[in-house]
Order: sequence, then structure tokens, then C-alpha cells
Amino acid sequence: MAMDGRSHIRPGAELCDVCGQVITDGSQVYALVPDSSAVHETASRFDGSRLLTGCDNAHLASLVREYEQRPYVAAELWAGQITRALQAASPASLTVAQLSAVTGLSATQIEAAVAWNNT
Ligand SMILES: [Zn+2]
Repeated sequence: MAMDGRSHIRPGAELCDVCGQVITDGSQVYALVPDSSAVHETASRFDGSRLLTGCDNAHLASLVREYEQRPYVAAELWAGQITRALQAASPASLTVAQLSAVTGLSATQIEAAVAWNNT
């Protein structure tokens, strides 16, 4: 979600995730936090962590604290990975075996993700 709506910003500019300030002088600070709701559009190596941008250390630190309060639920991450696989599939239906092959998740993990999704 943090990457949404940034296409209007010129290259090299960043938005503070806290106050929305546009930063064009390169003074922004970044942090990577664990986030089980973060599933990258295409690259699975970015799954489970979110890149945060702050206009200064104080704003970044407040955001990092917020994410530290949020529970990291593995099944939530798996559900996101399954959703991504289904969105890429055509037709958008896969068996558990096919899902497992595409996502690298085990059948047990897929079951847990479906259960998490249904709660
Ligand atoms: Zn800010």
C-alpha cells in the first residue's frame, strides 16, 4: 500500500509515510520492518517486509514503533502469496498442488492460509 499513488511524483522524489511531505532533496530516511500483510506485486523476495519512508528520524521512528505493535502472522503472508498466485493465474483457479508449485508453500501452509482468510 505504501507504494500506491506515487506515480505522480517526479523521479527521485519521495513521500513521507507519516505526514505525506514530498521530499526532493534526498534527506528522506528509510527503514525495513517485518509486516506479514506486505506481499510484493511480483517479487517474492520482498514478501513479509515493508519499506518505510520518513521525512526525518522522528517520523520514521514513530512509524517503526507502529509496525512493531502489529502482530506478524505467517498465515496472513501465505494468504497474500496465494492471492498473488491466483491473480497471475489464467484461468484464476489452481489446485492445492498447483498452488504449492507456484508459491513454494506446503499443503499445510495453504490450509492455514485459507483458514486465516476465512476468519
Ligand atoms: Zn514526515
